[in-house]
Amino acid sequence: MALHLSTPVSGLPGIGEKAVKDLRAMGIVSIRDLLWYVPFRYDDFSKIKKIGEVKGGETVTIDATIKAIGLRPTKSKRVQMVEAIIEDETGELKVVWFNQPYLLKIMPIGTRASFAGSIDYRFGRTLANPIHEPAGRHIHTGRLVPVYGLSGSLTMRRLRDSIERSLSALPEMLDWLPSEIREAEKMPTIAEALSMVHFPESHAVLEQAIKRLKFDELFLHQMLFEEIRRDRKKKSATEIVINKPLLKQFVDSLPFQLTRAQKVAAWEIVQDLSKDVPMNRLLEGDVGSGKTVVAAIAANMAMEQNTLVVYLAPTEILAVQQHKAFCRMMPNQNVALLTHNQIFWNQDKMKRIQLIEKISNGEVDCLIGTHAVLQEGIDLSKLTLVVIDEQHRFGVAQRHALLERDPNHSPHLLSMTATPIPRSLALTIYGDLDISILDELPKGRKPIGTAIVPEKHEAPMWDHVRLEVEQGRQIFVICPLIDPSDSLGARSVADIEKMLSKGPLKGLKIATLHGKLKADEKQKRNEAFRDGAIDVLVSTTVVEVGVDVPNATVMVIMSAERFGLAQLHQLRGRVGRSDKQSYCYLIPDNLNENANKRLQAVVDSQNGFELAQTDLELRGAGNLFGNAQSGFPDFIFATMADVPLMKKARDWATELLQQKDFFETHPLVREQMGIALEKVHME
Ligand code: ADP
Ligand code: MG
Repeated sequence: MALHLSTPVSGLPGIGEKAVKDLRAMGIVSIRDLLWYVPFRYDDFSKIKKIGEVKGGETVTIDATIKAIGLRPTKSKRVQMVEAIIEDETGELKVVWFNQPYLLKIMPIGTRASFAGSIDYRFGRTLANPIHEPAGRHIHTGRLVPVYGLSGSLTMRRLRDSIERSLSALPEMLDWLPSEIREAEKMPTIAEALSMVHFPESHAVLEQAIKRLKFDELFLHQMLFEEIRRDRKKKSATEIVINKPLLKQFVDSLPFQLTRAQKVAAWEIVQDLSKDVPMNRLLEGDVGSGKTVVAAIAANMAMEQNTLVVYLAPTEILAVQQHKAFCRMMPNQNVALLTHNQIFWNQDKMKRIQLIEKISNGEVDCLIGTHAVLQEGIDLSKLTLVVIDEQHRFGVAQRHALLERDPNHSPHLLSMTATPIPRSLALTIYGDLDISILDELPKGRKPIGTAIVPEKHEAPMWDHVRLEVEQGRQIFVICPLIDPSDSLGARSVADIEKMLSKGPLKGLKIATLHGKLKADEKQKRNEAFRDGAIDVLVSTTVVEVGVDVPNATVMVIMSAERFGLAQLHQLRGRVGRSDKQSYCYLIPDNLNENANKRLQAVVDSQNGFELAQTDLELRGAGNLFGNAQSGFPDFIFATMADVPLMKKARDWATELLQQKDFFETHPLVREQMGIALEKVHME
C-alpha cells in the first residue's frame, strides 16, 4: 500500500492497535506526524570496521557472521546472558547480550548481520549488547542512527523502521518557505531536510537539515511578530493618567521599601501607560528581584481608572499565588482568578459562567489566570493593560490573541521574564521593544550558599536539612522524575520521598508534588506548604517558575547534572527569598568532567545572565535538540545561540512583507501563520 502524508499510522506494517495507542500518546496519528517526530539525538555507528581493526572503547558497526551462539550461565538467576562469537575475514570477536534469550532463535549459526555497539575490554575484547539487523541494511547500524523519545511498549526499532518507511511519502510535502529564500540561502527543501534529519548521511548534512528546520521556526516567528508590530504602529492605546498621590499611597502601603531598580522600572512603566501609543515593555529581573510588585504598581494605576487589567501566568500554581498577592496588595479592587480548575472573584469561589458575567458587567478590575483567560466568550473589551509573567513561556499565538482583538486599539503590554535575555537578543526576537531591568535584589538578601554534595557528604547534608526544619524553616527537594519506572538511573519523587521518610528525615512532615497529581490536590499541597503545614516538599520541577515561599531556606536538587544551568538557577531562586540565610545543595548521580564544570558554574555564580552564557559555552553546538524543555514554546529547534539565523529571518521577514501582494503570491506562508496562531489554547 502506498503511504501518503494523511495515511493513519495503522497503515504501516507492524503497527497494531497497541502501537497506534502508544503513538497517539506521543501526538502521532498520521504519517505526516511521524515525519515531524524528530530524533532527540543520534548514536554514531557510522564507523564500519573489520574485526581485525577494532580497538577497545571504540563505537563501531561490524558486518559479520555468527560462528557460535549459546546461553551462558550467570551467577544471578535474573540475568540471562547470550554469548556469541562472530567472525569476518579478519578475525573473531566475542559478543554478549543481556536478557535477550530470543536471539538464540533469530540468529542461528551462519546468520550474517550488522552489529553496532562499543568494544568493551572488561571481560576480554567484547562487543556488549550490540544492536543488530540483517547485514548491510544500515538503518539501525552503520550510520548516524536516530534516537527517538518513546512511550508505552513501543520499541525504538519499530519506531525507527516506521519512520524509515514513511519517508516514501515525503515528496508530497509542500514547501511553504518562499523559494527566493531557499535559493538565496542554499537551503534544502523541507522534504529533503526531514529526510536528512531522520537518516543523515553525515554530520555536515545533518547540520544543513537542522539549519533549515530552525530557520522555518524563526522565519515564521518573525513574520508573525512583524505583522503584530506593523498593526500596533497604527493603533492607539488608552492613556492611563499618572496619579501621583495614589502611586505614593500604594507604595507606602507595601510591607517593604522598593529597591532603587524597582522604583526606576515602575516609573518607566507608568510613564509609558500615560501615552496613547501602546506600550511594549519587557521587565527583566533575576529570580527574586521583585517583578510582581512592579507589575502591581502599574496594574493598580490602570484599575483605578476603571479599566481591565489581565495578568497572564504560565502555570496554575503561579496564577493562584499572584492572585493571592494582588488581593493582599489591593483590597479595594476586584481581582479575579481564572484557570482551568480554579475560579475566584476576590476570596470567593465562583462558577465560570458567573465570573464571565461579572467580567462583562465590568465588575472585575483585574483578571489573573493561565491560558484559560484566552478562551472564547470572555469579554476583554475594556482591557487596557496586559501583563505576561514569565513571558518566554508563552508563544506568539497568545500575544496575538490578547493584542489583536481590535483593529484600531491595543492594550499596553508589559512582559516579564527572569530568563536573562541579552538586550541585543531580545531586540532580535521581539523586535522594537523597551526594556526595564531589575539589576538588584531587595535589601538584606544573602547569596545562597551553594555546594555540590558528593555521596559521602549526603548524610551530614540531611542533618543540616533537619536542623533547618527544627528552626522552623522549610525545604524543597527536587527530583527529575515522578516514578522510579520513568527512566534509568535518575532519582524519582516516589523513591526519594520513601528514602527520606524512612531514613534521614524520619518524623518530619514530608509531601510530594508533581504534574500527575490532580489539580486540586496539587493546589492543596502547595497551599499546605505555603502555610507551613509541610516541612519538606519533594517535587519535580513544577515548582520551578515563580513559586514564592519566603520561609523555605534549603533547596536540594537530586540528579542535578540532568538539569540545565538556567533551570538550576531558577530552582535555586525558590529559596533566598527573605533575609534568612539560604542554601542550595546539588546532588549529582554521575559526575563526569563536563557535569562537574556545569555544576561548579552554579556554585561560583549567582547571576542568571552569567550562567546562561556559561550554559551556552559548555553545552556547545553539539546538543542540538536539547531545547524541547527550554520552555520557548515557539521553538523546538532554535535556541538562544541562533542569533545570526534569527537576524537573517528578521531581515527576510521585513523585506518580503514590503511586497504588496506577498500573501497572494505565497498562500502557503499565510496558511502556516494561521496554523501557528491556532495554537493559542494549547498548554
Ligand atoms: P520575581 O522577580 O522572581 O518574580 P517576586 O516578585 O516573586 O520575584 O518577589 C520575590 C519576593 O520578594 C516576594 O516575596 C516579594 O514580596 C518580595 N519583595 C519584592 N520586592 C521587595 C523589596 N523591595 N523588599 C523586600 N522584599 C521584596
Ligand atoms: Mg515572578
